[in-house]
Amino acid sequence: MNYRHGFHAGNFADVFKHALLVRLLVYLSRKETPFRVIDTHAGEGAYDLSADEAQRTGEWRGGVGRLAALSDSSAEVRALLAPYLDCLGPLDPEGRPALYPGSPAIIQKLMRPQDRAIFCELRPDAFAALRRRFARDARIRSIHIDGYMGLGAYVPPKERRGLVLIDPPFEREDEFDADFDAFMKAYAKWSFGIYALWHPSKSESDVRKFYDRLTGSGIRRILRLSLSVGGSEEGLRSCGMVVVNPPFVFEREAQTILAFLAERLAQGENAGAQAAWLAGE
Ligand code: SAM
Repeated sequence: MNYRHGFHAGNFADVFKHALLVRLLVYLSRKETPFRVIDTHAGEGAYDLSADEAQRTGEWRGGVGRLAALSDSSAEVRALLAPYLDCLGPLDPEGRPALYPGSPAIIQKLMRPQDRAIFCELRPDAFAALRRRFARDARIRSIHIDGYMGLGAYVPPKERRGLVLIDPPFEREDEFDADFDAFMKAYAKWSFGIYALWHPSKSESDVRKFYDRLTGSGIRRILRLSLSVGGSEEGLRSCGMVVVNPPFVFEREAQTILAFLAERLAQGENAGAQAAWLAGE
């Protein structure tokens, strides 16, 4: 396990993932009944973008670093991004938050007293940071466990409503397959849950095979979202997220957010975004 999210925190892929994650959480919190969130690959929870790791790559500058001035964007974009920007807090003159919130910090911020969350993380140092950060919040359990195993063990949650975020590092060659298999097993036990599966789009054939397997599963209501920043530099330029059982309003909200991000985070030719159904109703 070499992957350390600190190098990538706040980059375009995080902004894409987290801006959409926030909309799913906002939707869940519209009903009074409690929800549960399971974050299978949680990371450390929050990241210091002045630390050596983030400084070395500077990736955050192409992501959260471009969100400082939204006054020229539409009122709709600003309203949809407002809860995400709240999670970021004040930005310094370079566009850097005091700490960049990872998915666990975002989930914590949008939970209410009645909601619960489980954060799984396998890397010992990341887990230690995660546990420390959330130790005093009785609504949250941080668990040192393989995320796919944790997912199998903790669904269905007793709340019956909620969200699973599957956000692995894609270091394993078979990560798409492991991701798909774990999702299918969880879905068989909890078909009402909302599932958000993030993935890099480095290998077109891996992504196509993953989508084909999802389409072939017979599961309905699968929305796929993607963002490409374009340009020709080395490294990740494009990523996607598959959302199963998205809330009714989510597709339209995602379209609006993605159109904005595709323009704001573009780094060169071929930047763009898409939201389309892999399988509809
Ligand atoms: N979800 C986080 C966020 O949005 O802030 C980022 C997660 S990062 C992409 C992936 C994390 O998975 C890393 O912290 C890595 O240590 C952890 N990890 C790697 N293999 C794992 C496994 N088998 N089970 C759980 N966590 C794992």
